[in-house]
Amino acid sequence: MPVPPLVDALVVGAGFAGAVMAERLASAGRTVLVIDRREHIGGNAFDERDAHGLTVHRYGPHIFHTNAPEIVAYLSRFTAWRPYEHRVRAEHRGMLFPIPVNLETLERFFGLTLDAASGAQLLARLRVPTRTPSDGKPRTSRDVVLEAIGPELYEAFFRGYTRKQWGRDPDQLDAQVTARIPVRTDRDDRYFTDRHQAMPAEGYAAMFRRVLDHPRIRVETATAYDPHRHRAMARHLVWSGPIDEFYGHRFGRLPYRSLRFEHSHIGGTERFQPIGTVNHPDEAVPFTRVTEFKHLTGETAAGTSIVREFPLSEGDPYYPIPAPDTRELYLRYQALADAETDTTFVGRLAQYRYFNMDQVVAAALTRAGQLVGADA
Ligand code: FAD
Ligand code: UDP
Repeated sequence: MPVPPLVDALVVGAGFAGAVMAERLASAGRTVLVIDRREHIGGNAFDERDAHGLTVHRYGPHIFHTNAPEIVAYLSRFTAWRPYEHRVRAEHRGMLFPIPVNLETLERFFGLTLDAASGAQLLARLRVPTRTPSDGKPRTSRDVVLEAIGPELYEAFFRGYTRKQWGRDPDQLDAQVTARIPVRTDRDDRYFTDRHQAMPAEGYAAMFRRVLDHPRIRVETATAYDPHRHRAMARHLVWSGPIDEFYGHRFGRLPYRSLRFEHSHIGGTERFQPIGTVNHPDEAVPFTRVTEFKHLTGETAAGTSIVREFPLSEGDPYYPIPAPDTRELYLRYQALADAETDTTFVGRLAQYRYFNMDQVVAAALTRAGQLVGADA
């Protein structure tokens, strides 16, 4: 006689996708086992106190921002918030420039004094039309930038950064990658303009602990998915790991961009840099950006903790690579996933989408709703 499943759902991955799925399923009466191969919950949003007592994000800076009130309402059950508006400068030839490009960026770069009207005129002169298909949208990440700010600013701020971050030229990446960064003809130097921008008041890890703190949820960290051991344990599987890994890479490996995070602490220094993140678009610099956590957390201490991000092609998967060739391969895996009835794929790695945290929460809420509804 077959052994009956031990839990209603096995959730692989304790990041936003897995944790939200688990919480929703448990709240709907299901028993859930969550496993993660890392020794902690929270996925890439995980934060912790470093040896100097400062909160740092182990996998790079995570700033929560969204325009979706329902996502804020949902997460607010598990955390209070510390309002925080992220600001970024890019270093170019020893000077710092606001990113996204705004009036001050243009003024400093071209040595001009501008207002909104003259700034818009300047941008109109700088812009370069690129080949556009019949729907009129720029095709690649290079086209997006050239059409918005022209070649000088593209070379200074986008080409090198993008080549480092993605290991590809911007014309080999979908438009959506650089289209994340707007262009402004005012002096707004916030990185995001979403209505809700904040950090979990006690950090991401504390928030995840509350999401997963449910009598019907069991969590096992330092546990990699093993189909022989785990598959029979649950009626339904929720997969938030890389989709190609689930299928044993049978069509070949989907590329995910990785990073090495170099954390360091500078003792006796109140502030390392004037702002949360400084980008380094120069290709001769091996890292893309430096983030100083005190700006994000509001913590005070005599010293300060920073992280540098060094892009890599091999290593933990952090970024799906939005491009025509990768999409073609992903669609083959997605066709397999769509045919599954007892497995749900959700999250940045499983859906191979360049999701922000709020988008992952939205995807998980939707998929959990479908699952619970289908079973009801
Ligand atoms: P993940 O967080 O990757 O979680 C997946 C989990 O599954 C991992 O913990 C992994 O260990 C586990 N797993 C995978 N395979 C297995 C297996 N076989 N067995 C067991 N466990 C497995 N978003 C924002 O909104 N704002 C930001 O400022 C921001 N900054 C970012 C900065 C960096 C450097 C990076 C990399 C991402 C950033 N993001 C940001 C995006 C954000 O990290 C993601 O949207 C979100 O964390 C994805 O959640 P997820 O659950 O889909 O995936
Ligand atoms: N980008 C760039 N220069 C910058 C900032 C961003 O070229 O100063 C490009 C780069 O390709 C980057 C993408 O825009 O990967 C998206 O930037 P974002 O800050 O959203 O990246 P993330 O925080 O997701 O790593």
